[in-house]
Amino acid sequence: MTALPEEGPQGGLSLYVHVPFCQTKCPYCDFNTYQGIEALMAPYLDALTTEIRLWGETLGRPPVVTVFFGGGTPSYIPPEQVARVLERVSHSFDLAPSAEVTLEANPGDVTGPALERWQRAGVNRLSIGVQSLDDSLLALLGRRHTSAGAAAAYGLAVASGLENVNLDLMYGLPAQTLDQWRATLEGVLDLSPAHLSLYALTLEEGTPLARWVEDGGVPEPDPDLAADMYCLAREMLGGSGYDHYEISNWSVPGRRCRHNMAYWRNGQYLGVGPGAHSCLWGHRFWNVRPPRAYMDRLRQWEEVGAARVERLDEEALRRAGPVDGVEAIGPSLAMSETMFLGLRLLDGMSIGGFQSRFGRDPLVLYGPQVRELTGLGLLEHRDGLLRLTDRGCLLANQVFVRFL
Ligand code: SF4
Repeated sequence: MTALPEEGPQGGLSLYVHVPFCQTKCPYCDFNTYQGIEALMAPYLDALTTEIRLWGETLGRPPVVTVFFGGGTPSYIPPEQVARVLERVSHSFDLAPSAEVTLEANPGDVTGPALERWQRAGVNRLSIGVQSLDDSLLALLGRRHTSAGAAAAYGLAVASGLENVNLDLMYGLPAQTLDQWRATLEGVLDLSPAHLSLYALTLEEGTPLARWVEDGGVPEPDPDLAADMYCLAREMLGGSGYDHYEISNWSVPGRRCRHNMAYWRNGQYLGVGPGAHSCLWGHRFWNVRPPRAYMDRLRQWEEVGAARVERLDEEALRRAGPVDGVEAIGPSLAMSETMFLGLRLLDGMSIGGFQSRFGRDPLVLYGPQVRELTGLGLLEHRDGLLRLTDRGCLLANQVFVRFL
């Protein structure tokens, strides 16, 4: 039986580059990102490019097919630093000329000169954090932009020649009404972006927003209303010709996010930067989270130097400077992850594909779960595919836990 590939990446790696800086920290956000540490930006970028170089040496310059600058706010670092990182990537990895290169941006950072420099550096996809086109909700979320600023940023991106632009939106916000959400959806449909990612707000423990809700200063989000908002989005975006290809993602034809498709297909990816996660050669591993500790670890790794490995085992990973934790992914974990990640894709999960990867029939392996979930109307089995039903999309987490 084959587990998650223990060999190197076949079709190429996806590379995630973490940028832990934000001009201001939004009150709902618990990502590994910080405000007020701009003094670390230059040494951080030195450490980041060193990490990319050392991984390239360790892995023997494997092919990379997607790069994703996430964070944090990648648009907050100077565009020439984005160029420097991409230059380092193409020296240390075999970066495909057709690689998808995405940069996450805050609307306020999207200017004509920045767009020109990002594109010259190789960025060919922008993901703009719009979140809402309602100014009162943007204020509640602590965002630095207005709805007009978000629309202007999108207009500039398109005018600069970027065709592949994603807009991120959030719904299920405290005090948000269905009409406000409808107006935001109408507004983004008027813009006609190539891609839309829609996320329901989750109140993350320890964030200011969670405390405000707990203290009663801000109303608690209503999960039933959030479900109605999701259904409205499906209806409106589907009616406008968008392909709903993943639970939270829609695109025009040919513009699915290739980087995220690698995650959902349980493919191989390398994450660089503090707290970044990787899944490679049958292991999951993650970097130390605090930026200063990350930079210290990189200094130590650089002193020791990287050694080319033929096989990335636990020992080799523990030697890699910034790695803080390692988990071996055995066959049963690999299969269950492939199931619940694959089911996020609305095309469904190919039963034949699963069989050729693992040598097991998922209908036999997960027979009781599949029978139960199809009986509940959450899953359907058709044309060699297992997929979520419309109802299953709404209750996806209940489906996924059955495969854990
Ligand atoms: S800009 Fe994004 S990453 Fe930064 S604090 Fe806000 S939500 Fe978090």
